[in-house]
Amino acid sequence: MAHRIGVVGATGRMGRLVLAELIPADDLDIVAAVTHPGSVSLGLDIGALAGHGPQGRTVIAQGPGCVDECDVVIDFSTPGGLAALLDQLPERCALVSGTTGLDATLVDRLAERAQRAPVLVAANFSTGVAVLRDLVARAAAALPDYDIEIVEAHHKHKRDAPSGTALALGRAAAGARGWTLDATAQHGREGDTGPRQAASIGFHAVRGGGVVGEHQVWIVGGGERLELTHAAMDRATFAQGAVRAARWIVDQPAGRYGLPDVLGLTTS
Ligand code: NAD
Repeated sequence: MAHRIGVVGATGRMGRLVLAELIPADDLDIVAAVTHPGSVSLGLDIGALAGHGPQGRTVIAQGPGCVDECDVVIDFSTPGGLAALLDQLPERCALVSGTTGLDATLVDRLAERAQRAPVLVAANFSTGVAVLRDLVARAAAALPDYDIEIVEAHHKHKRDAPSGTALALGRAAAGARGWTLDATAQHGREGDTGPRQAASIGFHAVRGGGVVGEHQVWIVGGGERLELTHAAMDRATFAQGAVRAARWIVDQPAGRYGLPDVLGLTTS
């Protein structure tokens, strides 16, 4: 039997791409497409949003009961949208969220929910980035005295910096060296900064035009530099990763998962 799925942030750039992946799928039945109560797209047919023909299901406003029918929900909205969703989710409903810019309160609420239901949050649903994280952790551990700097570039509409993916890459590198990211992150440089701190990871955010998402990790020693780079070329790759995660998580027990679990990678 098909699982019942909801999409939150359905009228956004990512939400539409998720709908486009889900509409042809026989094993996932879209039972809710939810957006902000003030959205101009409320009431539109989901097929029109996703570049398909009419589907007989319209976009509804976030609010009580909006995801009551769902076995699993994919969320690409805003931190406020995710916070509101956590108030609405049915008891055992699985959650896949790609929303970035989460504060500590939201992170705690997600951890608390994961004790009762399956939760998968990923700052980047590209499978290539999941492999990149794995490679960065291995390189950081194997080259312990090399400096690590992370440069990311995104489109001009992106609201948070550095990207959630850059932070996840930094966390992987820091963890591999027994550091915490909080203690070692260095966000940009300006003025009389003094020499680089050895136990630090540098972050640099570039914004412009329509860049989908690029992450470059420099691992720099005295006489050589290793660069690990990923470029997303089409946002559909994130939607495909999120749908793959939703198919996988819907049958999992309560717990906190990551994309590496879906892909069967050994690190997380
Ligand atoms: P967008 O602004 O195009 O879409 C956001 C959508 O959320 C809009 O439709 C808006 O109406 C809706 N929304 C806002 N508040 C809401 C609420 N309270 N309830 C329900 N819906 C609400 O943004 P986007 O480019 O689609 O990105 C959405 C989020 O996903 C961002 O946080 C972005 O950084 C993140 N993102 C993550 C990945 C990933 O792979 N994890 C990839 C791309 C974008």
